[in-house]
Amino acid sequence: MADSTAPFDDFLPEALRLRAAAPLVDIGANLTHESFARDLPAVLGRARAANVTTLILTGTDREHAEQAVAMARQCSEPGLALHATAGVHPHDASRWDAGLAAAMADLHRQPEVVAVGECGLDFNRNFSTPAEQERAFEAQLGLAVECGKPLFLHERDAGRRLREMLHAFRDDIGNAVVHCFTADRDTLFGYLDLDLHIGLTGWLCDERRGHHLRELVGEIPLNRLMVETDCPYLLPRNLPAKLKGRRHEPALLPWIVREIAHWRGMDEAALARATSNTARAFFQLPTAPALTPTHQEN
Ligand SMILES: [Zn+2]
Repeated sequence: MADSTAPFDDFLPEALRLRAAAPLVDIGANLTHESFARDLPAVLGRARAANVTTLILTGTDREHAEQAVAMARQCSEPGLALHATAGVHPHDASRWDAGLAAAMADLHRQPEVVAVGECGLDFNRNFSTPAEQERAFEAQLGLAVECGKPLFLHERDAGRRLREMLHAFRDDIGNAVVHCFTADRDTLFGYLDLDLHIGLTGWLCDERRGHHLRELVGEIPLNRLMVETDCPYLLPRNLPAKLKGRRHEPALLPWIVREIAHWRGMDEAALARATSNTARAFFQLPTAPALTPTHQEN
């Protein structure tokens, strides 16, 4: 039976316990990161307490994608649905070969996997060369065409090239989301012109580097906008209390929704409902997750 009033435990300071007004979907949670290994059940419990009822676990390479699939299988429970993505991050693109491609295609056939990725281009750090990144990304675009699942994209300092490559595939691939969008207005409109979805993290809660996003969030149509923590990374800087360890987690997603709602000038509950509806349609999730009647308004 779903527990709509799951309590917070003592880990989060009182001031950080915020329950979303409508059930949320965190479209980017790196829960296979080693920092979650020792207290995963508590992390999941706090997500439920915060009304974050669906988590998409990011699979960034073969090992982590397999772990994410296993976690989705084992840890989903009434009131908390876990799904996985499977892809090879541009940082690891140099490892792409036929064996890895076959393993990925295998993962994409699993029912727990709801998207191909994270994949894309990162010309900021170039841990793999741009040529290696483009090769691995193009191959994964092909895998997305084959399996018919949406794409979960990563892009940093490579907006123009990403758009060119997506443009070539646009008629064949289905939906695609640029996760953790942090780029400028031109890049945003370029993505929207390609009919892409946009994932927003707590980046815009950062007064040092997220300023430009505050004027842009209102430009993203609600049927293209989704929210994510990208935890354990990117702990929002607008939190009203310090968090020991400074590890980001899904239970803090309502703070990001609050910030986006503020800069859009819209009601938090309406934004929560809209982003969850968009995410359910995007990832083709069941429309009625296991929730109590009082929470079925969306
Ligand atoms: Zn990313």
